[in-house]
Amino acid sequence: MRHPTEEPTLKSLKADKESLLISWSDGATHRILWRTMREECPCATCRQKRNEPPAPPPVFNILKPEEAAPLRATAMFPVGNYAYQVNFSDGHNSGIFTLEQLRDLGESENTL
Ligand SMILES: [Zn+2]
Repeated sequence: MRHPTEEPTLKSLKADKESLLISWSDGATHRILWRTMREECPCATCRQKRNEPPAPPPVFNILKPEEAAPLRATAMFPVGNYAYQVNFSDGHNSGIFTLEQLRDLGESENTL
């Protein structure tokens, strides 16, 4: 458990087509794929979905245009001083990512 005053803060946020690029006050830089963020969405709906058994695969798998397009974020808004709300291109926008979660995602994504 880190002491709150030792938590790194955001230096800059940049977005590209596939990922979020984060620079931290302690010098670390992370790239997190939007897809990863969408899969790790912390909202109640997504948390519940992740706990359910996976649905059986469809007999026909016809992609809708919005599913074929690569998932990305369309907007990101600060929520207070320590969190960001992300609007994803699939229309989902109820996930609020804390800086701590972004840091954890960045660290796990970048050590793979
Ligand atoms: Zn969600």
